[in-house]
Amino acid sequence: MELNLDLTDRTVLLLGAAHASRRALRRYSHAGAVVRTASTPEEARRALSRPVDVVVAVADGDPAWGPVLTELRQRHLVVTEPAAAPGGQIILVGGGPGTAELMTLGARRALAEADVVLYDRLAPHEDLDELTHGAELVDVGKRPGRHAVPQVDIEAMLVDHARAGKTVVRLKGGDPFVFGRGREEVSAGAAAGIPVSVVPGVTSAVSVPAAAGIPVTHRDASRMFTVVSGHVPLTDAELAHLAGLGGTLVVLMGMGTLQQLVAGLHRVGMAPTTPLAVVERGYQVDQATTYSTLADAVSTGVLTRCSSPAVVVIGEVVRLGREAPAHIAALAEPAGATSA
Ligand code: SAH
Repeated sequence: MELNLDLTDRTVLLLGAAHASRRALRRYSHAGAVVRTASTPEEARRALSRPVDVVVAVADGDPAWGPVLTELRQRHLVVTEPAAAPGGQIILVGGGPGTAELMTLGARRALAEADVVLYDRLAPHEDLDELTHGAELVDVGKRPGRHAVPQVDIEAMLVDHARAGKTVVRLKGGDPFVFGRGREEVSAGAAAGIPVSVVPGVTSAVSVPAAAGIPVTHRDASRMFTVVSGHVPLTDAELAHLAGLGGTLVVLMGMGTLQQLVAGLHRVGMAPTTPLAVVERGYQVDQATTYSTLADAVSTGVLTRCSSPAVVVIGEVVRLGREAPAHIAALAEPAGATSA
């Protein structure tokens, strides 16, 4: 059962060892309550000489609380809370493509437990204060006019916070193990002897095409999809290989090298009529899709107007998105589509 109480300006007496109750202390303070703490039964008895609206008992494992809780239950509303994790830990969390709707329950649970969150710009971060109940939030992503925090510094921050006994969530866009440097952060934690866990996320490689109504596979159109990083230009050997595969090609981080990619695929012999879509800002209010073909993309330069973040989809499945029933397209695509 979940009770939704307005605790604004209510007095909460929080019982439990300080370390175990730190999360409950943050939660109830964040909810607007006036929180008084008692780490021993004696302190609790003294605190009760003043009025208290709610008593929160943190399960810190100390049997000494038994008798005092029995007493308290006769006169007060007593809520129990689990103890905060004892040692520091790092949780890598995939936040999905940028909307809270596509965060997993596991991601939400990890955020609710976090003392500190290091987040990226592409991860959903609007509601973090609410989802974490007031954890410390650190933006380590790139913003216009400001560089991202270097990867080594992010890893050092993760380790430092965890060493201080905190639960540190590293919140990333999409899935942490898809072009997310997730494994490097796992290694950094492991090398420092800190427990690290990973919560997978909904990757943009599949979900952003879906936002435009494009399925990455389809029985009649494609029985494979290949996800490629466009961070650095592909070699001719790689391009020839990709052109020969015949399934769907999905490119992430591809805006900087897009002209080279389309020209390259064209040059190595991919069919000029191959349909292509660039889906920009998936799941944002200004989401937009640009449709083209390989040949037109090379000759018209229409894609030079597209900007990051965007997912490029190349292959027959793109037609299915373009021809999607109107109601699906309307639901999926707030900002409409352009083509050339
Ligand atoms: N780990 C992430 C990918 C990180 S690389 C994942 O699994 O989704 C960053 C790239 O992801 C961006 O350059 C862009 O290609 C893509 N991307 C992520 N979110 C996006 C979004 N909401 N809309 C469009 N592209 C997105």
